[in-house]
Amino acid sequence: MPSLSEKEYKNEFVATFPGDDSGNTKPRQTPGVLYSKAIPTPVKKPELLAWSEELAQELGIEKPTNQKDIDILGGNHVAPSMYPYAACYAGHQFGNWAGQLGDGRAITLGEWEAPSGKSWELQLKGAGLTPYSRRADGRAVLRSSVREYLMSEAMHFLGVPTTRALSLVSTGDKVLRDMFYNGNPAYEPGAIVMRVAPSLLRFGSFEMPAARRENENLQKLVDWTIDRYYPHLQGENRILAWFQEIMERTASLMVDWMRVGFVHGVMNTDNMSILGLTIDYGPFSFLDDYDPDFTPNTTDLPGRRYAFGKQASIAYWNLGCLASAIAPLLPGTEELVAILETYSDIFHEKYYRMMANKLGLDEVKEGDQELITRFTYTLSTLNLDMTIFFQLLIDLPQNLENEAETEAHFQDSFYRPLEKGERQTLHTLLTDYQTRLQANTSSREETVQMMQKANPRIILRNYLLHQAIEQLERGENTLFLKLQAAMKDPYSRNFDEFFAKRPDWASQKAGCSMLSCSS
Ligand code: AMP
Ligand code: MG
Repeated sequence: MPSLSEKEYKNEFVATFPGDDSGNTKPRQTPGVLYSKAIPTPVKKPELLAWSEELAQELGIEKPTNQKDIDILGGNHVAPSMYPYAACYAGHQFGNWAGQLGDGRAITLGEWEAPSGKSWELQLKGAGLTPYSRRADGRAVLRSSVREYLMSEAMHFLGVPTTRALSLVSTGDKVLRDMFYNGNPAYEPGAIVMRVAPSLLRFGSFEMPAARRENENLQKLVDWTIDRYYPHLQGENRILAWFQEIMERTASLMVDWMRVGFVHGVMNTDNMSILGLTIDYGPFSFLDDYDPDFTPNTTDLPGRRYAFGKQASIAYWNLGCLASAIAPLLPGTEELVAILETYSDIFHEKYYRMMANKLGLDEVKEGDQELITRFTYTLSTLNLDMTIFFQLLIDLPQNLENEAETEAHFQDSFYRPLEKGERQTLHTLLTDYQTRLQANTSSREETVQMMQKANPRIILRNYLLHQAIEQLERGENTLFLKLQAAMKDPYSRNFDEFFAKRPDWASQKAGCSMLSCSS
């Protein structure tokens, strides 16, 4: 297997599209181009903190053993065949058109061809200034880099489509951040993640040439994306078929997020992958207690636009932006709009099927939608821990004698004592559920397997990440390594030391519940 410094890289994006090759990182608008050359700014002392061996195997990359390879991961060395660049894209942020954004602190080094023949974009996040850095520094702090590194790998092992993370490097430099946006900036250790995906193109990558009325660039980008990433779509109506597939992938992604209780926190159109991947890990969170109104992003208050329960409809809104961007390439908008209008049905069909799996129902029968809604309503009004509740549901005793027995069984998922009426609601729901289970044609064993596959046991809760980061900042990696191992096996009982609800102390602590975008 070649190492990072030995590899012959491809640069097909750069070779295909117009770019600004000046290498100048002065902040500016870059009309007419899809990327700008940007050489990573060297850091003081790059040290490898973490390496994803499974991903490295898949890509055929040898683990760095010499300083040259580590220097690539820290942005201190660029291999001869790499052409580092920052992509130019635009976006709608919090519902408003934000114009040009672009990779302000991410630099793609090149494309790595894996033994399978599949090509992967290798990108450093936090590698220094680019023309799109605006007034920021192009850097990332250890805190946000650990979160992206662990969480993107965790999502992969949960079976949720995502960008991946190959490495985590500390830079030896300090980075100034106002973590709480309260006028008290402080220095934090800097870090760089190498992010990896077949493509990091976003909805915003298409919105940019569309907004600039650069139809030729737009057409070329759409054609290239379809040929390279959706090659099964050919023929006259392929743009429509492509949009339909992006819509389906995006709907599936929303359903997967809802299955595991993931809240992205910043679903701007520049953070929506054209491949339907989870991308741009910022102030994300898993749900502890089930709350559809929960947003982990302090910048998202008070509107809660990106709350857990709104993600599916925000995805629809974002798909509308993508549709508007590609509309100039079509003779009319009628068909595009007709496809978009099917989103709700497609999403709901996938959603109820997923929820049926979580509950162990082998099909969605009449009355099941109502039962599913009763479950989510009960989870939210009783403030139950989502992950623990569904795990306990797998082990539900066959005959629930009375309310007290039901309460005792689900005790570990409570964040507060239940009132009398709530105990009754829960008990009635579960006895109705058990009656419904009798209509299953699959065996009890098959039902349990279905539920185990749909319901993770171990999730990377924010307070765990917070503790691991605090340790790492003190130079200790025990918890980090344990979490790294646990997240690879989230459906098993092998890491039950992390099978616990959020402790009381964490519920109001910054970084354990709410986070800011500052990273
Ligand atoms: P995000 O909220 O991470 O999706 O970022 C939104 C925009 O801000 C993107 O264009 C980022 O590249 C840019 N950005 C975020 N943080 C930084 C930073 N520290 N330096 C430069 N640009 C940044
Ligand atoms: Mg972003």
